[in-house]
Amino acid sequence: MFDELRELYQEVILDHGRNPRNHREPEDASHSARGDNPVCGDRITVYLKLDSDERIADAAFIGRGCAISQASASMMTEIVQGKTVAEARRLFDSFHEMCTRDDYDAGTQDAADQEALERLQVMAGVREFPMRVKCATLAWHTMNAAVEGGEAATTE
Ligand code: ZN
Repeated sequence: MFDELRELYQEVILDHGRNPRNHREPEDASHSARGDNPVCGDRITVYLKLDSDERIADAAFIGRGCAISQASASMMTEIVQGKTVAEARRLFDSFHEMCTRDDYDAGTQDAADQEALERLQVMAGVREFPMRVKCATLAWHTMNAAVEGGEAATTE
């Protein structure tokens, strides 16, 4: 059962890596930032369009790098779509915990985030590979930099 789950997770990551969602450069983005993970060579640019009540009306990215970094960016652009900036940042905090803490407990997270966190669970395997945590969280760091009005984020 565990192996099957693992394979399924792998499949989701490969699918996003091969067919990244929202892989485009929107012309009407209100916020953007570049993200750089020199350890692995991943580079992305995240574009956001925030509406007047700080809701993410559109999220997209371009970039290149390892399958994990690109799949994570692809999933992130799907997941934050329609969320407020505050909700997206809260998700990032939870996701970061999921990727780094052995005692991460999904049950303690905000109920509104459960569905998104279940989807992100496919990335949780990086916890066993500390170098990969940076690949998985690069897109989220970059999204954070974009909403803060920063131009660039780095995992260093
Ligand atoms: Zn990488």
